[in-house]
Amino acid sequence: MRTGEMTIAKEVVSLLNCPFCGEPLSTLHQSTGTKKWSVYCEVCFATTRDCDTNWEAVAMWNCRANYSMMCTERLHTVELAIDEILETLKGHHNADT
Ligand SMILES: [Zn+2]
Repeated sequence: MRTGEMTIAKEVVSLLNCPFCGEPLSTLHQSTGTKKWSVYCEVCFATTRDCDTNWEAVAMWNCRANYSMMCTERLHTVELAIDEILETLKGHHNADT
């Protein structure tokens, strides 16, 4: 998994892949007008809300990415459980006929 790396306040932080499309093209951006920071995805243009500091924007983005990953895992678990139930039902059905 490739992540965009950059230097912020002498610390290297990694932007996680986009929580929506999964592409590693997340970009930290500072608005020239409002001087607010945000992170956006160059692929699907998902974006965080405007933050006062760059690390806030990165934290918000990574937080969302982590949360989205958790949801995907959870969904996968649910799908597996449904498959299992369907298999069981199919097994019962076959046994009856
Ligand atoms: Zn995206």
